[in-house]
Amino acid sequence: MHKTIAQILQQEEFSKKDLISLLSADNTETELIFKKAAEVKSAYVGNSTYFRGLIELSNICTKNCFYCGIRRGNKKVERYTVPDDEVIQAAKYALDRHWGSVVIQSGERQDKEFTDRIEHLLKEISGLTGEKPGITLSLGEQKPEVYERWLAAGATRYLVRIETSNRDLFYKIHPKDGLHDFDKRIRALYDLQKAGYMTGTGVMIGLPFQTTEDLADDLIFMKELDIDMCGMGPYIEHEDTPLYEYKDLLLPLEERYRLTLKMIAILRIYMKDVNIASATALQAINPDGREEGIRVGANVIMPNITPVKYHASYNLYKGKPQIVPETDEYINNLERQIAMAGDVVGYGDKGDPKHFAKRNKK
Ligand code: SAM
Ligand code: SF4
Repeated sequence: MHKTIAQILQQEEFSKKDLISLLSADNTETELIFKKAAEVKSAYVGNSTYFRGLIELSNICTKNCFYCGIRRGNKKVERYTVPDDEVIQAAKYALDRHWGSVVIQSGERQDKEFTDRIEHLLKEISGLTGEKPGITLSLGEQKPEVYERWLAAGATRYLVRIETSNRDLFYKIHPKDGLHDFDKRIRALYDLQKAGYMTGTGVMIGLPFQTTEDLADDLIFMKELDIDMCGMGPYIEHEDTPLYEYKDLLLPLEERYRLTLKMIAILRIYMKDVNIASATALQAINPDGREEGIRVGANVIMPNITPVKYHASYNLYKGKPQIVPETDEYINNLERQIAMAGDVVGYGDKGDPKHFAKRNKK
């Protein structure tokens, strides 16, 4: 029997077929999904949006992912590392504004100089306020002992996007060498959970060769892994990357945008109490994109607090450097838009994922 979207939304559990139907919903039906996601969000995590100050620490990367503008092989990139004092200053800006959390993101490096430096920065940032802040890391795959050291130094959450849960697609968007390994990427997520991190993953939406079934599998992957946080966003092509060759296969940007909002809403309904970030890449397509993400189920926004002089060099995809610098005025405006989306900013609260507390009680 063919089920309508309204019927599927009344269920407590969803089969893969149900997820595919939700992902394939037309515009009118999608509004039902968005409405349900807003209800679930309100009931399970409340109507606070948490700000995390995002510091794009460095664009130096040892990897060569086919989609990423700062991949090792892109010789057009001017490489930078934000010096310690500027990192601390940026973190202080966020914590002084009572955001409660920062995110440190960077190209992947596993050398000792890098891992020691992160440990040092974590200790410095942890000591900035009386109460320990929430610190999320997005620094790629590391050895288990490195995760442990960073946790001891003050990190609490870690984000490693699987990028796609389809092994074949993973190898279409990454070089097939020891450095880019699907199983190692999954291993990293287990290692992080084992170490005691609030663990996040996510995917890119609208990749060339990606199907609706792949996206349904991505949602199932996240649920099976019992993740605490998710950051997923539209794939946006970058002309100096190998994947650009397939640009003609891509959905129009506007459709990738809509599909991302749908993925956010469906994940909210499907996993209920996880934290979901409204990705910066949504904003690159639509200036109000992150606020729309909040309206359909996301509860985290990561304003970029990296000093502006580095922004253009952390150019992962087309359109990113054009994003307006996130000044005080911009943040005030963001706050107003969040209110319009029905939320309040969760100032003075780290906003740890409710799912993590529950997962640990199991
Ligand atoms: N190097 C770390 C890693 O890969 O996990 C963290 C930084 S990396 C720049 C963060 C994320 O950017 C990746 O997980 C990927 O999903 C996203 N990204 C890279 N290139 C992108 C693109 N062209 N479009 C959308 N997202 C992209
Ligand atoms: Fe490096 Fe991350 Fe970009 Fe891959 S996605 S090239 S690991 S910064």
